Amino acid sequence: MKRHISAAIALMTSIAYTICAQDLRTEVFDLLDLDHPGLAVVKSLHSEGDDKAAAVALLEWYRTRKGICTPDIKDPGDIGINKEEQKWADEALGHTFFVHYGYQPSFNYGEDIDWKYWPVQDNELRWQLHRHKWFTPMGKAYRTSGDEKYAEEWARQYIDWIRKNPLVKVSRDAYEINDNIQYGKDAENSRFAWRPLETSHRLQDQCLQFQLFIDSPAFTPEFLTEFLVNYHRHAVHIMGNWSAQGNHLLFEAQRMLLAGSFFPEFKEAESWRRSGVEILNREIEKQVLPDGGHYELDPHYHLATIEIFYKSLLIADLNGFRNEFPESYMDAVESMIMFYANICYPDYTNPCFSDAKLTKKNNMLKNYRKWLVTFPENSTIRYFATEGKEGSLPGYLTKGFLDSGFFVFRNGWGPDALQMVIKAGPAGEWHAQPDFGTFEMWYNGRCLFQDSGSYIYGGTDPEVIEWRRWFRATSHHNTLVMDDKDVDKVPSRTLLWQPEGEVQVLITEHPSYEGLTHRRSIFFVDGEYFVIVDEAAGDAEGSINIHWQMPHGDVADSCKDMHFHTNFKDSSNFHLQCFCPDMAKMQMKKEQGWQSSEYRQKTERTDASFSQKKADSTPVRFITVIYPKHHAGKENVSAKFTDKRYSNDRLSISVKVGKNKKRTLSYIL
Ligand code: MG
Repeated sequence: MKRHISAAIALMTSIAYTICAQDLRTEVFDLLDLDHPGLAVVKSLHSEGDDKAAAVALLEWYRTRKGICTPDIKDPGDIGINKEEQKWADEALGHTFFVHYGYQPSFNYGEDIDWKYWPVQDNELRWQLHRHKWFTPMGKAYRTSGDEKYAEEWARQYIDWIRKNPLVKVSRDAYEINDNIQYGKDAENSRFAWRPLETSHRLQDQCLQFQLFIDSPAFTPEFLTEFLVNYHRHAVHIMGNWSAQGNHLLFEAQRMLLAGSFFPEFKEAESWRRSGVEILNREIEKQVLPDGGHYELDPHYHLATIEIFYKSLLIADLNGFRNEFPESYMDAVESMIMFYANICYPDYTNPCFSDAKLTKKNNMLKNYRKWLVTFPENSTIRYFATEGKEGSLPGYLTKGFLDSGFFVFRNGWGPDALQMVIKAGPAGEWHAQPDFGTFEMWYNGRCLFQDSGSYIYGGTDPEVIEWRRWFRATSHHNTLVMDDKDVDKVPSRTLLWQPEGEVQVLITEHPSYEGLTHRRSIFFVDGEYFVIVDEAAGDAEGSINIHWQMPHGDVADSCKDMHFHTNFKDSSNFHLQCFCPDMAKMQMKKEQGWQSSEYRQKTERTDASFSQKKADSTPVRFITVIYPKHHAGKENVSAKFTDKRYSNDRLSISVKVGKNKKRTLSYIL
């Protein structure tokens, strides 16, 4: 009996899903400008009261209209699909939805789709469900196979989503708050389904899906009216709920610009497009610092932001309004590309500072080739686009970006180069981590001292929150902390930047805590090794620790002489050794560390640290030598302070590294 009841319930829910009706939404005729060229027949049928026939005419218009393009699909007749997209399309037929690379295999959302299903309480998993990332692959599968099952299922899911995810008004701030208590059930769902960033994502991708599916019999005149009313609701929602700032606002602006360009038939289309252009023109001035860095100080979002600004130019080009972007906009995009080219490594990968993930070389090659079309005179872009076959490298090696606080020491541009990238600048916006003074180092084909990365963003699950905290923590970077507490998110100050000569120098200072200032002086000696002097001054008392994130693999150490060295077989090794005025007072510690280059992927490694007690207002000082070298094993290194005590305006130390000559390193500010 029980089995019969559950079978009946299953049948009913399945019917509830399959009969999702497509209604003729007559309000669509109020949303469209029926005087738009090409809509005369629609207008006349509508004014005669025959909305069904008007909808048929409207569909005919959209199936045959010409001259409106998106950069993603220039010719809907020429579509390909890769293996992964085909898999997502096929899985989606059974409601297993590709939502996030970090959660594989994908979850199933039930025969009667449960759009509120949240198997892991990570906000990204719930937000990104509403980006419908499997819809466009379904469209490609439809175009390449001609199989109507993809179009029919897409139309069903599209309508099902509308029915089950009503737009419930919440305050703009509520979209970014993690606390669910104060909201009703539908409002709570709306906070995820209708967050402006997700809304804009759908707004963009539905232009593609529209092109891919419009010729299908499943794309009925009734469906068209549902689609347009829903699309319009999306655009109006963004116009009233722009994100306050950052990359979200830029994404939304670029997508509104697209919405207004792709559907010029809507009465408000022109104002949508203009709002997008206006925000992009305003924000590029604000979010892109004079040196080309993006103000979130995150290489991944820096790249994403280039893409936003760049894609907007392409849409403008394709649809004839490039002149609405001034020359300064073009210059800012170009300077962002140059910034990125400088901070990245010879294998085209990026530092994992802030919330950055690792971008792969083939993606970057595609990006450079794309950018080259817009900036054909830029020889550096040409060099990277052609892997050095054409164009040329910049005429400099070491380069500082003082507005963004990114400093790059290098002795070459090729794979065998030695390159250190330091992050020590402004506080930064949302994605920026409290990691002042940290760095990564590339040497001879490998990134050593890679940043811990970010692993996960946020959510309500305690485990998600804990991992978020771990990866952001100052102590899990290559910098100085007191009692392993996070430093205050306030700007660093550059006291000296000397990018030329045998000894190149960066001196940066950060008011890390109340009563404690961290001064980090980095010497790049003879293009061969680094000497880092860390000094913690002020009244604060506690344990002063400098952390070094060791690479994964064979790393040896000795607390007798306070050193670590690698035993790698690939000619990319280092010896790191730490010194202080009274070695008996310094301790060495090894803890569990992690590195994450992709969302929810992490590799174990060692978080090494050296510490000294700061018992009074006497400053605590460390010298660390990092000697990169081909061969594995330890090296003979010595270093000491040659000045008696800490001084606010001068420093002198002596260093001897391997067979290199003994050096005195000093400065007077
Ligand atoms: Mg980090």
